[in-house]
Amino acid sequence: MALETWKTKPAEPETDELLCQAHGCPNRWAVDTGSRLCSDHAWAEPHKWPQITQAQFHKRKPLVNTEPTNPMTQAEKVATLNALRDMMKNRPDPKAWAHTLRDRENAGEELTRTQREAWRTALKRDV
Ligand SMILES: [Zn+2]
Repeated sequence: MALETWKTKPAEPETDELLCQAHGCPNRWAVDTGSRLCSDHAWAEPHKWPQITQAQFHKRKPLVNTEPTNPMTQAEKVATLNALRDMMKNRPDPKAWAHTLRDRENAGEELTRTQREAWRTALKRDV
């Protein structure tokens, strides 16, 4: 009987332990029948699983709305890009702390071993 087959036949393992174990199913598992399945797969016979998996993809909404809800005008795009360019020009030096430590050591201050190693590692590519 098909129902008995369904009960004894293990589903294919998925690498992601949170996902339904029916091959390719995008849903998280919700029912543990010996195999962890989403509710749609759990209540269907295994020979119907491929169609059910396909239906899950059609049912899913995209995670990100790819349609712009409020498209920008050309002038707004140019203004945004100019603002980004200005931000990138004026951003603070992300390795300022390393330069400060190097200058302190060069001025004769005794740094900890960790401080000495940290600024050298951070400035290795710059030197
Ligand atoms: Zn599933």
